[in-house]
Amino acid sequence: DLMLTKVAKSFGSNAVLHDLDLHVRDGELFTLLGPSGCGKSTTLWSIAGLHSPDRGTIAFGDRVVFDGGRIDVTPERRNCGVVFQSYAVWPHLSVHDNVAYPLKLRRVKRPARAARVREVLELVELGHLERRYPHELSGGQQQRVALARALAHPPDLLLLDEPFSNLDAKLRERAREWLRALQQRIGVTTVFVTHDQDEALSMSDRVMVMDQGRVRQVGTPEEIYHEPADEFVADFVGSVN
Ligand code: ATP
Ligand code: MG
Repeated sequence: DLMLTKVAKSFGSNAVLHDLDLHVRDGELFTLLGPSGCGKSTTLWSIAGLHSPDRGTIAFGDRVVFDGGRIDVTPERRNCGVVFQSYAVWPHLSVHDNVAYPLKLRRVKRPARAARVREVLELVELGHLERRYPHELSGGQQQRVALARALAHPPDLLLLDEPFSNLDAKLRERAREWLRALQQRIGVTTVFVTHDQDEALSMSDRVMVMDQGRVRQVGTPEEIYHEPADEFVADFVGSVN
């Protein structure tokens, strides 16, 4: 399981995370849902090790990767597969080379690398586009390349930060169903970030609603929708009560 305990983070005088607790179970698709600026990306970056909180602890199972003092494991050693919205794929590398990159970094030998790239591109249904370049792909296909890259060296944890935000409404809906099916098939523990309540409620095992760096509610989509903990949650997910 992934455990965050009392994680706090400020940027200058701007306190972004306030003693945040978070518990993600093995194999689940767990979504951080909340309005723009509430600290979702900051939480994800802290998990990946891309920046350090000011306080608190982060553990993967019984392995502590951050303890606010002595321990701060590097991103490489945390083995998270990450997909970000903005710089998803490298434009100067082919699909194959984008996906092969993390394997190269980890010194996987060429034949094994090629086989793994093919395998993971099949998984995201892009096997036929291996030789193309990102500008020759649709936005949705590019996001799948980014996902393939995140999965190439099988990650212990998959972290997805608004991966569908540049897709149009119709593609988004298909993308979420497709991602959900893939996640269940391979069983990788996933933390998904979105500010879209429909997305969160339709594809998650559990959802955590955040507001200004604090947790408002954690629950199944049904609980969040039908038993919102407070006005904020009810408003945000559009419950009728
Ligand atoms: P969005 O839905 O818009 O992506 P978010 O929930 O992911 O929002 P964060 O990116 O975590 O929000 O940002 C939370 C707060 O922290 C914001 O007020 C933001 O301005 C601030 N912040 C984030 N990163 C930095 C940074 N590197 N330096 C300074 N402030 C930052
Ligand atoms: Mg964000």
